[in-house]
Amino acid sequence: MQNNIQAVLALMKHIYKTIMYAELNTKSDFCQVCGYDGEIQIVEDEHGKLIWRCPNCGNTDQDKMNVARRTCGYIGTQFWNQGRTQEIKESSASVNTASLL
Ligand SMILES: [Zn+2]
Repeated sequence: MQNNIQAVLALMKHIYKTIMYAELNTKSDFCQVCGYDGEIQIVEDEHGKLIWRCPNCGNTDQDKMNVARRTCGYIGTQFWNQGRTQEIKESSASVNTASLL
């Protein structure tokens, strides 16, 4: 989102002129090991378990990272079970038009 400010502004104007009730969420995760500020990735470990990994330093210690994601309509910062993590992994970062209807 930070790489396309024009699109963000256009979306904000559209929201203001039409539905008035909408929001933009950024993925501003933080790695406490290396200071990375961006999107912590979900990857599979050697046993097929989904884990969170810093794309910058490879840190996978959940006690040393901050992750916030929207699940079930709420933004959470706790870590989730495998099913919910899979759901987060598969959700796209595009505009969710279903919520505009
Ligand atoms: Zn890191």
